[in-house]
Amino acid sequence: MRQLTLLARAKINLSLDVLGRLPDGYHAVETVLQSVDLADRVTLREAPAKVTVRCDHPGVPPGEGNLAVCAAELLRRTAGERRGVVIEIVKAIPVAAGLAGGSADAAAVLWGLNRLWELGLSDGALLRLAGELGADVPFALEGGTALGRGRGERLTSLPLPRGLGVVLVHPPASLATAAVYRGWDAAPSPSARHTPGVVRALTAGDRQELACAVGNDLEPVARRLQPEVAAARGMLLAAGATGVAMSGSGPTVFALAADREAARRLAASLSPAPGWSVLPCRVARRGICVPEANIG
Ligand code: ATP
Repeated sequence: MRQLTLLARAKINLSLDVLGRLPDGYHAVETVLQSVDLADRVTLREAPAKVTVRCDHPGVPPGEGNLAVCAAELLRRTAGERRGVVIEIVKAIPVAAGLAGGSADAAAVLWGLNRLWELGLSDGALLRLAGELGADVPFALEGGTALGRGRGERLTSLPLPRGLGVVLVHPPASLATAAVYRGWDAAPSPSARHTPGVVRALTAGDRQELACAVGNDLEPVARRLQPEVAAARGMLLAAGATGVAMSGSGPTVFALAADREAARRLAASLSPAPGWSVLPCRVARRGICVPEANIG
């Protein structure tokens, strides 16, 4: 039985500007997305006819509600493929955290099954399928550093801030993306326009400017809904962290650090409450990676 294991990486939003609502009800955003090397482990095993998923995390849907299953079924329909697959997911990315873990798993399934089933779909074709699955899935497939427009899915590559360290602080708060956007709709305010400064800083390779420019229009809304978001920010600032902002629709808050070692030191200096996760990591050039030559 052939199988393939992939690492599916999380993303943070170095900026997230909400520009208004689109006619289809979604929100128009401008955002700078950055892959980090915190990753789920996704193993794909050939199976006779069905798509099934196994996951060690209780918050992850077991069946068709799982975005990884949606990705496999979409690929099967598109390619007229009748073979099945067992998808095994070992979660390292906190769930419903603003880190796009579900999108990362779905992107890994698209990329991996194209290879395992030898479908020969082009990168462009995979990207189109990714766009059908969700606004964050195209970036999860591409990875690196990118400006996202539209719903966040129209991507333009940006220079990678090579080696930059990141500390993720995830309070155990539940914040549904839809609820955060509803909060924004209830009191829409003009965007603080963080993205142009982040793009300028990345283009100039200026880490200090980058730390000053990060920000997220949804953070004030998320703080009102979940005080833990403000507490996470406060804990990082009290430890002397810079480049602090919320990722996506929260509740994860991140800080930037000079490199992985500095991220580890900052993480070790924090005293999180029970149940909180503090995860030091580093920016990554790719969204999906093969840990070793393991197809066979
Ligand atoms: P989004 O902003 O896309 O709503 P997120 O980045 O905040 O998501 P995810 O970890 O992707 O967070 O989880 C969002 C929701 O998706 C969860 O409530 C979960 O039930 C569902 N979900 C579906 N498939 C997965 C998966 N493979 N891994 C994690 N969550 C999944």
